[in-house]
Amino acid sequence: MPGEISTPDVQRYGRAWHNYVARRNLVVVLFVGLVPLGALIARLKLSEIVSMSVLAGWIAVYLAGAWWLTQWKCPRCGKTFANRLWTPRCISCGLSKDEVVAVGRGK
Ligand SMILES: [Zn+2]
Repeated sequence: MPGEISTPDVQRYGRAWHNYVARRNLVVVLFVGLVPLGALIARLKLSEIVSMSVLAGWIAVYLAGAWWLTQWKCPRCGKTFANRLWTPRCISCGLSKDEVVAVGRGK
C-alpha cells in the first residue's frame, strides 16, 4: 500500500536514530564532563601548561564530537540533517526527529 512504512524503512530509521542518540549522548557527556574534569585538574595541582593542555584537548574533543553530531544524515533524504546542534527538523526535507523515532519504532 502506498504510504505504508516498509520493514527496511523501519530498520533504517531505527539504526539512524540509534546513531543520532549515540552522537548526542557523547556531546552531552563531553560538555557536562568539563566541570568534573576542571575540578579534578584543580585537585591534582598540575602545572599550568599541563592543566591548560588537558582542558584544551578536552574542548577540542568536544568540538569534534559536536561537529560529528552535525554530520548526522537524515534517514529519509540522506543529506546532512542540520548544520547546527539541536535542530528539530531536517534542513533539506523537513523530516522531524519525532518522525524518525516513530518510524524507527514501526509506527
Ligand atoms: Zn531529510
